[in-house]
Amino acid sequence: MTRRRFAMTVDMKRCVGCSACSLACKAENGLDGSGLRCWVKVETEGTFPHLAQEVRSERCEHCDHPACVAVCPTGASYVSDGGTVLVEQDRCVGCKACIASCPYGSRYINHAGVAEKCTFCLHRVRAGKEPACVTNCPTGALAFGDRNDPTSTVSKHLASRQTKQLAEDRGFGANLFFLD
Ligand code: SF4
Ligand code: SF4
Repeated sequence: MTRRRFAMTVDMKRCVGCSACSLACKAENGLDGSGLRCWVKVETEGTFPHLAQEVRSERCEHCDHPACVAVCPTGASYVSDGGTVLVEQDRCVGCKACIASCPYGSRYINHAGVAEKCTFCLHRVRAGKEPACVTNCPTGALAFGDRNDPTSTVSKHLASRQTKQLAEDRGFGANLFFLD
């Protein structure tokens, strides 16, 4: 059986920047207000009057080759089910090496002094549910699933739509895909 590889797609034509994803993440994961695991970025390209705006819901990219895991001196950062990158908080010493290494700015130090980041809501996924951001997006802009399963929604999106990855991706193997 092929191993699962979890991924998420963000449809930039559907995302309206309402931040419901970010708020749902905050509530689901009991975040303490020190930072966000999921956020909305708005970028304007071009020169007036030929301007285009991109609205993106962003989070950890759960890289195939995660720099954060490679630099962690204690093994607190590790790869779990379906390639999901997690932090074992009891082992984190708050040295910030992972924060310095992440090309996407996906991590921060929480009020307890340990590294915090998106978990793809693995606790929900293991219970057969979708990540909170996906469930609560009012426009259906987000999809989550196994990119090694050709019948999954993310696989269908990746096969049928143009995708874009962020400029920061320098071979880390990001698993967050932006649909143009
Ligand atoms: Fe690690 Fe950053 Fe990649 Fe997430 S996006 S797996 S925090 S290097
Ligand atoms: Fe590892 Fe924690 Fe240091 Fe990050 S802050 S490198 S997770 S020990």
